[in-house]
Amino acid sequence: MDRETRLRLAVQKSGRLTEPSLDLLTRCGLKLSRGKDQLMGFGENMPLDVLFVRDDDIPDLVQEDVCDLGLVGLNVLEERQLELIARGTAARFEKLRDLDFGRCRLSIAAPNETRFEGAESLRGKRIATTYPYMLDRFLKSMQINAEIVTLSGAVEIAPRLGRADLICDLVSTGSTLQANHLREVLTVAESHAVLIRTPVPLVEFKAAWVERMLLRIDGVERVKESKYIMLHAPRAALPAIRKLLPGSESPTIIPLEGFPERVVVHAVCRENVFWETLENLKQAGASAVLVLPVEKMLA
Ligand code: ATP
Ligand code: ZN
Repeated sequence: MDRETRLRLAVQKSGRLTEPSLDLLTRCGLKLSRGKDQLMGFGENMPLDVLFVRDDDIPDLVQEDVCDLGLVGLNVLEERQLELIARGTAARFEKLRDLDFGRCRLSIAAPNETRFEGAESLRGKRIATTYPYMLDRFLKSMQINAEIVTLSGAVEIAPRLGRADLICDLVSTGSTLQANHLREVLTVAESHAVLIRTPVPLVEFKAAWVERMLLRIDGVERVKESKYIMLHAPRAALPAIRKLLPGSESPTIIPLEGFPERVVVHAVCRENVFWETLENLKQAGASAVLVLPVEKMLA
C-alpha cells in the first residue's frame, strides 16, 4: 500500500474505542474490507486504510509518521505527552478534532469504608494507577505529596490486595468502581476521543483527503443530535411554536391545501427533541407532529 497515495489511520484494535471509531468512519462514507490477518482494513472507496493496534501505541505510531492519522483517547495522548516531556523530548502529534465519543474521566477513588475529606486526605497515601504522569501533574498542582504506585492493569483491586490506599483510574458510569467497593472522590481529568495527525507535512493529494474527511467528520458530529421536525399548526400559533423548537434556525412554513388558517412547519433542530417538547408543541396547537433523524448535513 503506497504511502504517497493512501492515508493510513490508526484505530484501536479491540476495546471501547473500536466500535465508535469504525462507526464514525462508516458515517463519513468509508467502506472498509478487512484482510485475513485483521490487522489492516483496506478502504475500498477512499484512499484511506486503517491499521488496527493497541490504543497505547497510537500516539507513537502517529508521531513517528508510521500512520498519518490516529483515533485515540485524550487520556492516552496526554499521558504520553507528559511522559515525553519528563524524558526531555517534546510530543509532536497535532490534534485535529475533539470527538463526541469515548467520554470518561480519570478519577481518584477511595474504598467505601475509608474517610475522605478533600484533596488533603491524599497526603502521604499510596495511589495505584496506570496514569502516573497525569496523576503526578494533578498532585503537584494541588501541592500534595503522595506515593504513586504505577501498575500495568487491574488497578481497581490494588486496595484490596494492600498494594495501595486509593486508586486513580478511568471511570465512565462508575459501575466498575462500585463492584470493587470503591467510590469516586476527585476528578483528575476529563477525556474523550480525539483525531490526531502526523507532524510530517502531507503530500497535496493526501492533505486534500484529510480536509475532506474533516468536513465529513464535522457534518457527522453536527447531525448527531439533530432532528427534522414536521408538524401542522394554526397560523396564529406560529410564534409560540417557533419558540418551542429547540435549536432551530428559521423553519420552512408551507400552506396547507384547503385550510387557509393552517400551515405545515418543517424545521431542523440542532438539539435532542424530548417528549416534553412534543407535548408542549401539542399544547401550543401543533398536530401531526413527526420527528425524523437527520442522516447527513453539509453546511
Ligand atoms: P488496549 O488493549 O487497546 O490497550 P485498553 O484496555 O487500554 O485497550 P479500553 O478499556 O478499551 O482500553 O479503553 C480505551 C479507551 O476508551 C480509554 O483509553 C478511554 O479513552 C476510553 N474510555 C471510555 N470510557 C472508559 C471507561 N469507563 N474505562 C476505560 N476507558 C474508557
Ligand atoms: Zn490500552
